[in-house]
Amino acid sequence: MSAEGWLKIIGLGPGSEELITPEASSALGEATDAVGYVPYVERLAPRPGLTRHGSDNREEIRRAEQALTMAAEGRRVVVVSSGDPGVFAMGAAVFEALEAGRPEWRALDIQVLPGVSAMLAASARLGAPLGHDFCCLNLSDNLKPWALIEKRLRLAAEADFAMAFYNPRSRSRPEGFARALAVLREACGEARPIMFARAISTPQESVRITSLGEATPEMADMRTLVMVGSSLTRRFPAGREGEGEWVYTPRSAPSSEATR
Ligand code: SAH
Repeated sequence: MSAEGWLKIIGLGPGSEELITPEASSALGEATDAVGYVPYVERLAPRPGLTRHGSDNREEIRRAEQALTMAAEGRRVVVVSSGDPGVFAMGAAVFEALEAGRPEWRALDIQVLPGVSAMLAASARLGAPLGHDFCCLNLSDNLKPWALIEKRLRLAAEADFAMAFYNPRSRSRPEGFARALAVLREACGEARPIMFARAISTPQESVRITSLGEATPEMADMRTLVMVGSSLTRRFPAGREGEGEWVYTPRSAPSSEATR
């Protein structure tokens, strides 16, 4: 194993170049190889000395092993994810491969570099919807049963968290999000604010604020981060003509919340 190789698990942020951290940019500048899901690897400008290895969705473990193998050969490897690498992304896949893999991999120089996760970029656009206790869930049932998603949704609603949902709806599983909305309507009521933040920080960005009663499944796709307020979340008009809206969750909760 060569001493010079390293592996950096980095996040590219939600889309805009400006939201890539300087630390992640330096790692990209020094890397010999970049490994990741095709659309993320394609976000990296080609340059001499950098080989981009794009792979398919659902190949995370094989991709992680490929990255570890190259780092062990002395290459400087970045594993790229969107947003933050620890949030529903390659970070956990690399550690799973590392724990189960070749013992000598454990001696590698491995670092995780944080990135701006979609929920943070989305909440910044809306105001401060995650200003008090919140939780985030991955609504994809690729790697877990739907019954578990539904259980966690109900318990999160009961605990009165504000919620952020990643991977809300895809073509391969269009019904899941409709069921999630039904569960939330029942648990939180029709008036509860729901926010759809799509393609944040890219030219296709859009934001929609509505209520659970008005929300429809088509408002979300795989480029959307969905947020649902807690019972304390507030929305009010913004802008000269009241054409916009701010959403925030106050920093404090009354003692009556504990016994609700
Ligand atoms: N590691 C990433 C999440 C990967 S899961 C992160 O920390 O952000 C992919 C999901 O992230 C998408 O289905 C969507 O829900 C959300 N997402 C990623 N980029 C986004 C963006 N620019 N705007 C809104 N949601 C985004």
